[in-house]
Amino acid sequence: FTKGFSTQIRRKLEGKVALITGAASGIGKATATKFISNGAKVVIADIQQQLGQDTAKELGSNAAFIACDVTKESDISNAVDFSISKFNQLDIMYNNAGVACKSSPSITDLDLAQFDRVMSINVRGVIAGIKHASRVMIPRRTGSILCTASVTGIMAGLSPHTYAVSKVTVIGIVRTVASELCKYGIRVNCISPFVIPTPFVMEDMSRFYPGVDAQQLVKILHNSGSLEGEICEPIDIANAALYLASEDAKYINGHNLVIDGGFTSF
Ligand code: NAD
Repeated sequence: FTKGFSTQIRRKLEGKVALITGAASGIGKATATKFISNGAKVVIADIQQQLGQDTAKELGSNAAFIACDVTKESDISNAVDFSISKFNQLDIMYNNAGVACKSSPSITDLDLAQFDRVMSINVRGVIAGIKHASRVMIPRRTGSILCTASVTGIMAGLSPHTYAVSKVTVIGIVRTVASELCKYGIRVNCISPFVIPTPFVMEDMSRFYPGVDAQQLVKILHNSGSLEGEICEPIDIANAALYLASEDAKYINGHNLVIDGGFTSF
């Protein structure tokens, strides 16, 4: 009966090497975990050194940590080179690191110093990651590049202007770079998550909006037009990242995959 029948499940990233920024926590950590359980080796690049080292230790010998501040081009370049020296190649680059920001009551109050800071992480950090991943992927004529955008990049009014503009720009970067890199067999896609209760939301929300119950806010948002009873979680994004990074998505390029339980469609 079992002759010729294999119960072994195909691991989608067998033999692949991924570099994930912002992987010490939240979506990045969930994705690193998912990629490793699917056969990949993963470099965790994050500005939080202790947490990053702890995460790599927790994930075992197929994970390695490198300190990386995505606002510094040399750190990103080092992280790419480290992926190759540690695990021999780079197949997947996930530009995921990002920060939230304080709201300005009006565009006339926009804090331009904060704007520059958020852009340097959420936008410059992403395009620098693509630049250095491409440097090693183009000669191999293969690769998958992912970025984390946000529903705030496709629907106005969900977040402060600064954060929204940073995520609109990530979606734009993905489209323009995908149009160049397709001729090398390199795919570039992004994921736009709905609100997820990671430290990004829970800590930054209470930092920027004292008195607001972040847990309650997440519930209210989810109940105002997405899948009944469901909360978007890091694993939902990790599952999408696994799909986009794998051969299953070999014809998906320049795409923004929205994971919001339908919130932005209704
Ligand atoms: P998180 O706070 O759990 O993780 C973000 C990680 O990025 C942290 O580990 C942090 O140390 C790292 N980081 C911050 N600045 C960095 C820098 N300069 N260099 C390197 N690493 C840096 O939050 P998360 O929710 O997992 O966020 C990941 C991505 O998801 C971000 O780009 C965020 O904008 C995006 N996003 C989050 C939500 C949400 O609701 N949580 C929704 C949409 C998009």
